[in-house]
Amino acid sequence: MKQMNLVICLLFLSSQLHSAQSATAPVFELITLGDTGGIEDGNLSAFLLRVISEPHYIALDAGTLVNGINVAQSNKAFKHLPVKIDNTLSSTGNILHHHIKGYLISHGHLDHVAGLLIASPDDNNKPIYALKSVNQTMSDTYFNWQAWANFTDRGLPPLLKKYQVIDLIPQQAMNLKDTQLSVTAFSLSHPGESTAFVIEYKDNMFVYFGDTGPDEVEKQGKLSAIWQYLAKQMQTKTLRGVVIEVSYANQQPDNLLFGHLTPKWLMSELTHFHALLDNKKAFKDMQIVISHMKYSLKNTVDPKVKIKQQLEQLNKLGFNFIIATQGQRIVL
Ligand SMILES: [Zn+2]
Ligand SMILES: [Zn+2]
Repeated sequence: MKQMNLVICLLFLSSQLHSAQSATAPVFELITLGDTGGIEDGNLSAFLLRVISEPHYIALDAGTLVNGINVAQSNKAFKHLPVKIDNTLSSTGNILHHHIKGYLISHGHLDHVAGLLIASPDDNNKPIYALKSVNQTMSDTYFNWQAWANFTDRGLPPLLKKYQVIDLIPQQAMNLKDTQLSVTAFSLSHPGESTAFVIEYKDNMFVYFGDTGPDEVEKQGKLSAIWQYLAKQMQTKTLRGVVIEVSYANQQPDNLLFGHLTPKWLMSELTHFHALLDNKKAFKDMQIVISHMKYSLKNTVDPKVKIKQQLEQLNKLGFNFIIATQGQRIVL
């Protein structure tokens, strides 16, 4: 009888363990292709995101593309990806052509699109998703046969039609072709318009923030609108993680932010978000990846080190901060 009880008890325990594991098992894979917001060419804002169960990434900005893939490969960041073997292509070519299924572009600043533009002559057909104003900037500024050939399907002819340009409507979900992901775009305050992308897979969410200033400085309430949307969604869904920028350390004066965040301003925004949530535990499993740290030519402390220290000092609510590093693989 005692043995029987023990078996029942063990069975119960193992089922509890299993359900605890499946609740926290990672859903997304995020690869950092570029972690700076300037000025280090070859390491500018870009990430790849996929659902772990499918081998298709979406690129979140593309400041650096081919060099980022190369650094990630030397770090073995793609070791869990079942890479398609196309013998006509190098391993980098295989990833670019067969595993990246589209680009989500937050805004047209060069540190977010240079890698896409430079790789475009040898890229293959895929969609570019962005807000209408961002797509317009891309057409007017780069794909205009003066700065660059027009590889897209709109704007100045002849149209090379390699990239299908798709306008996202703010706060309206759209499926991302050849993936199981959907995206909802939100406008952000930045010189010109920038974008946050809420990406969803089943009941799981991930948010990529393009460049943004804090609401208190920008006076447009755009981050507040996203925090409210997310807090509502999180009543039924899990927010697995976010990528958000911290461009400067706290010493940067507010009148010289140029639409960017510092550790102090990020903390003030996250505190606002935290206050909106019914279930504060939701923050425990949420990973906050810090991107777009400015590279410095000055002979002083590395801005990345300073930003990390300042975030830790201010982190009274226990957020999980990860400093983005080119070539890193994170599951979340
Ligand atoms: Zn930028
Ligand atoms: Zn920018």
